[in-house]
Formats: sequence, C-alpha cells, structure tokens
Amino acid sequence: MTDFITRFAPSPTGPLHLGHAYSALLAHDMARAAGGKYLLRIEDIDRTRSRPEWEEQIYDDLTWLGITWDEAPTRQSDRLSVYKKTLRALWGRGLLFPCSCTRRDITAAASAPQEGTEPAFGPDGLIYPGTCRARTDRSQSFPEGEALRLDMQDALSTANQSEFCYTEQSSGQDETLCSPARNFVQEVGDIVLSRRDFLGSYHLSVVLDDAAQGISHVVRGKDIQPATQIHVLLQNLLGLPTPIYHHHRLIRDENGKRLAKRDDARAIATYRAEGRTPDDIRRMVGL
Ligand code: GLU
Repeated sequence: MTDFITRFAPSPTGPLHLGHAYSALLAHDMARAAGGKYLLRIEDIDRTRSRPEWEEQIYDDLTWLGITWDEAPTRQSDRLSVYKKTLRALWGRGLLFPCSCTRRDITAAASAPQEGTEPAFGPDGLIYPGTCRARTDRSQSFPEGEALRLDMQDALSTANQSEFCYTEQSSGQDETLCSPARNFVQEVGDIVLSRRDFLGSYHLSVVLDDAAQGISHVVRGKDIQPATQIHVLLQNLLGLPTPIYHHHRLIRDENGKRLAKRDDARAIATYRAEGRTPDDIRRMVGL
C-alpha cells in the first residue's frame, strides 16, 4: 500500500450523472493503480438540500459502477462539532466577523458608487464589498446562528505569505500553481465560512475533512479549481497539510454545457434503467 489516499465527495442533493461517474471512476482507477486508498465522503452540510434517498442512490450507483471504498463513508453532518470548534478558534483569533447582509444588500453595495457597473464575481461568488466588516466588536463572545465571514485582509496578514501554492498533477507531471496574496482581497474577498441556515461552509468543511481523512491526492473537476487557492489559504491558517490536486476535465453535453444535477437524462440511474452497462458508462466518459 502506498501513501496515495484519495476520495470522492458527492453532495446528496440529486442524482449522480455522467460527470460524477467520470470523477468517481477516475479517482478510483488512480487509487487502485497506486495501490492506495479510496474513500467516500458524503458532503451533506447543507441540510436544506440534502436527502437521505439521494445518499442511498449514491451508494447504489457507485456499487453498480464497480467502485469499492476502503473505509466506512464519512458524513459531514456528523462532523459539525469539529467545524464549530474551528470556527470558535478562528473567532478567537479575530479573523471572523458576523454578516447579516442579504444577497441584495451585497449586490447593491458592490455596484455602488459606480452606478451601472456589474458587481464582481470570484471563486466564492459575489465579491463581498465589506458592508458588515467593521460593524461588530470582535472581542465579544462567539456569535451563534449567524453567517460568519473571514476577514481576508486580516487572514492574509496572519498567514504572512506572498503567495499560496499547490502542486497540480492533471497534465501527467507536477506543476506548481501559485496565487499571489495581494490578489485575494480584490479577487476572492471575505468568504463565508459559516452560513446562517447551517453551520460551516463548503470551503471550511472540505479542508478540515481532507486533512482528517489524510487525503494525499484530491481528484475533482476543473470547475472547482478556482476555489483551490482558498483551500490552500485555509490550510495555511489552520496548520493543515496541502494535498496534491488533480483537477480533471469536465463532461459536457452535446452543446458544450457542463452537466448539472438536474440533467436527469444523463443520470447514471437513467442509463441503468435503459439497460446500459458500467462499461458503456466508462466508454461514454472516455475511460
Ligand atoms: N461536494 C462537491 C461536489 O459535489 C465536491 C467537492 C470536492 O470534491 O472538493 O461538487
């Protein structure tokens, strides 16, 4: 067994489609070729969208595809206490602030003062214009039940690095990709680390979970690659290792559009019902 440990981390918010099949199979093939481990993580922190029946369907589809995982699957909804502990620690370091701005407030503030200019988008969505940043006294106790944002400027001062780098392996060889720290405030902004409707956020849980599961290689789609610089910054702030990343090509429909959860026509379950085989799926995704 080598030290290659990877994972597939689907959100149980809809049926797995061909894009998921490609991602799951590619990571599985890589783990098996390396004599490493393949883990499964159910990313269900968003309780408003996750459903147990979709989780069941994930196990069913992956098993049908011939995928096996080497440990019991983990569920993000079982790890809320870890996320909370981390948020409390970041709060204690003065790096978070509560934010009650609505999307509309943020859009309005981001468009002003140059009326008519389009608000800027970064890897975490609309770039936050700082509306609530100075509003709360950060020496007060941890705010429960509020959205929490990372103060990007303070986070960068704490990290004290001129750039955030990781190793990308998708071209078959190692490539070091770096994002300069000076771009983060303008191009990423004060990202959300905990939501009002559920504890934690994608960025926070993904870095904590990859570290807890000892993931050495993250295999995921190129659509998530813009977020990787955020993950490297968070790993730095939290003292966690940075895995090697492999951002793979995306499976697209005949119009060149990336497949979405609602593309039921390309759901693995639909192909199964039509009598296709796992080998047909492999061929369809070019494996
Ligand atoms: N849960 C994410 C998704 O389904 C995957 C996140 C990741 O692989 O880092 O798109």
